[in-house]
Amino acid sequence: MSGERVAAETCVALGATQQKLESYPGREIELGSLAVTRLLPVKGKRLIGPWCFLDRYGPFTFAEGRPMDVAAHPHIGLQTVTWLLDGEVVHNDSLGYESLLRSSGVNVMTSGNGIAHAEHTPTRHSGRLNGVQLWVALPDQHRHVNASFQHVDRVPLYEQRGGIIQVFAGGLDGSISPATHFSDLLGADVMVHPRTAVDMPLQPAYEYAAIVLGGDCSVDGERLHERVLYYLGTRRSDVSFASDSGGRLLLIGGPPFAETILMWWNFVARTPQEIADARNDWEERRRFGEVTAYDGPRLAAPSLVRFANPNPAS
Ligand code: MN
Repeated sequence: MSGERVAAETCVALGATQQKLESYPGREIELGSLAVTRLLPVKGKRLIGPWCFLDRYGPFTFAEGRPMDVAAHPHIGLQTVTWLLDGEVVHNDSLGYESLLRSSGVNVMTSGNGIAHAEHTPTRHSGRLNGVQLWVALPDQHRHVNASFQHVDRVPLYEQRGGIIQVFAGGLDGSISPATHFSDLLGADVMVHPRTAVDMPLQPAYEYAAIVLGGDCSVDGERLHERVLYYLGTRRSDVSFASDSGGRLLLIGGPPFAETILMWWNFVARTPQEIADARNDWEERRRFGEVTAYDGPRLAAPSLVRFANPNPAS
């Protein structure tokens, strides 16, 4: 396999040295029956702290079928973080875990050197689906850890003047998510009440980005639009999110990631050879194990010489 061409994307931290308010429109992608907006990687192939992937889907309502149905597929070098605003998703993986995720809980899967999983809408469901799918790049010293899976039924939630904050990754103002991560980071869902603002303390050494999940929101006096990633830069000790009629945002951040990563399909690596090896192991049914609980064929890996987008909502 040595010297094989791999059409991977190189991603580096945005890593601003000052406050910013830059907008990066997402890309609309049809993934089977699921329409998603891809907000990371953005043009320029960037990370926000260790966050390297962000898909937004919903809100959808449905009467039949499975809007979420992602067959078994492999990951290396990352953690998947699934956060729902509404609806249900079932996770099954090659370690044998099965987990039903609902809003206010978070699923975190650490791929380490290799894991496979599948996700689907359960048979008994609310008829609604609304969420985000994120990935966290594992730092070099931890990217070969044993694979693991963690379900948190209810993440810390606190009410403060102006709104409600749920911290699903990292910590904020004394609220710390029980989810295990390998880099400093923050992932928070922020609800802003009508005609108020939510003031949040930030880490000046972190870079941050926000997306609108619903309603109306503004920051630094600028109205934010849905399906756009807003990069807030660094050197902020606080931020204020304001709303006229009520709004909801996702805020992610972390220290600018010091390593350059390679992304291809569902893999985060450092060298093309690692990607080629992982692809080969998936095709040869090595390393990743089987998702025995998922009823259906597994996803086939694309050709290495074509750039492969990350998987649907996974
Ligand atoms: Mn996945």
